Amino acid sequence: MSTALVLFRRDLRLADNPALDAACAAHAQVLPVYVHAPDEDGAWPAGAATRWWLHHSLAALDHGLRRRQSGLHLRQGDTLQALRQLIALTGAGAVYWNRRYEPAAIARDTQLKSALRGQGIAVHSHGAALWCEPWQIATGQGQPYRVFTPYWRKLRAQLPAPAPLPEPVLPGWREPAGGLPLSALGLLPRVRWDGGLAQHWSPGEAGAAELLQIFADDAVHDYARGRDLPARHGTSRLSPHLHFGEISPRQIHARLERLASQADAARRPDIEPYLRELGWREFAHHLLYHFPATPTENFNPRFGALAWAAPDPAALARWQQGRTGIPLVDAGMRELWHSGWMHNRVRMIVASFLTKNLRQHWQHGARWFWDTLVDADLANNTMGWQWVAGCGADAAPYFRVFNPVTQARRFDPDGHYLRRWLPELADAPLALLHEPWKDPAQCRRRGYPAPMVELAASRQRALDAYAAIAR
Ligand SMILES: Cc1cc2nc3c(=O)[nH]c(=O)nc-3n(C[C@H](O)[C@H](O)[C@H](O)COP(=O)(O)OP(=O)(O)OC[C@H]3O[C@@H](n4cnc5c(N)ncnc54)[C@H](O)[C@@H]3O)c2cc1C
Repeated sequence: MSTALVLFRRDLRLADNPALDAACAAHAQVLPVYVHAPDEDGAWPAGAATRWWLHHSLAALDHGLRRRQSGLHLRQGDTLQALRQLIALTGAGAVYWNRRYEPAAIARDTQLKSALRGQGIAVHSHGAALWCEPWQIATGQGQPYRVFTPYWRKLRAQLPAPAPLPEPVLPGWREPAGGLPLSALGLLPRVRWDGGLAQHWSPGEAGAAELLQIFADDAVHDYARGRDLPARHGTSRLSPHLHFGEISPRQIHARLERLASQADAARRPDIEPYLRELGWREFAHHLLYHFPATPTENFNPRFGALAWAAPDPAALARWQQGRTGIPLVDAGMRELWHSGWMHNRVRMIVASFLTKNLRQHWQHGARWFWDTLVDADLANNTMGWQWVAGCGADAAPYFRVFNPVTQARRFDPDGHYLRRWLPELADAPLALLHEPWKDPAQCRRRGYPAPMVELAASRQRALDAYAAIAR
């Protein structure tokens, strides 16, 4: 009776899971496995918030498997060694997985593949996280894209991707000895700061499906406008679920297409702007795959000459803690600390403030996001930070410095978002809320900090530094 191992990683779902589907179709016994190997993620082992998510997502996956007379076998340590032990224990002749695209994961998977094949084990890798594999889209000259719009035009023409796969029927499993309890992976924080995360999120495939349903019922109909308003639930909030592969872009696309075709003309959602955002996610993976040094190196080498300010731990700490004295920046950083997530527009504003007004290197911000975001994702985070700093592919022009006051007036005109995250200013009149420094006495009374920099002067210093390299 043939046995296969299915190695779960960033594909923590049962439906539309090509590796699981192929293994179940071809083998009488299938053992779902997760090997916790943070050392194999190079310089980017999961941060605190994503470890929290991973714990709960693995629990949800195991629960789903057990309801289908299967289960998730947990190990930790060297992946190759763990797989070899399991092959010896089960007699498995094949290993299946879905691909990852981070440079360290690609290097590890390449080694795994050759070592396992070398001992006569069949290895099957599948694409599950993207509409299109990064190497399937190329310019007319066969080069990777560096600009989003033509990339998106090419990718859009290839959609819809193949229909999502249904959940497979799981064949029997017999769990071998040596499996660990989930708690042994030590993913949860020892000092429990994670109450806010639990309040906001339900990791796992069911939680992802529920959020998609909520989005399809409501926010998708006004996404083009609502996506920019941080006080609203105007976006899908699916990013951590996508990162962990609890839902696939194919499933999202199929659900939204069905919705659009079923709706009457008046209620037909315009799904294009939403698909385009998923297109940015694909582009980020395309960039990371083709330019694997970009998590630590500027995409645009000219920025090597930019005169960043010297690292300033005190300034960085004020930014991290949401104590800069600039309300929209502080609201965003506190939302992040409490919930593990931040609205996209606010991410751009806090990143612009750090890299331009404070002139701190974008990597300080990227590292903090890496540790605190539940959706921390090497491809999206790298592209987001480089885009804002101006050194990325198709980046915002260097002279764009977001003005947090203008942005707050435009995208949070009633101050609901600011009041929610800044209790010191919750009952302040709107004018004070947007520019509290205009009444320092009130700010002192309320315990809200004075601004750490003056916005216009710090903007000018950034422009001067950028102008030097633009020349
Ligand atoms: C400085 C900075 C850092 C970022 N770091 C991350 C990160 O670590 N992980 C992450 O998933 N996203 C990151 N983003 C992109 C974006 O902010 C989030 O994907 C988005 O806010 C997630 O919310 P949502 O799921 O409601 O998005 P929606 O608006 O509902 O969009 C749907 C999906 O499209 C993708 N998407 C949307 N916008 C972008 C974008 N600009 N770039 C890439 N993919 C996008 C996400 O997977 C998202 O879940 C970053 C953006 C910036 C400016």
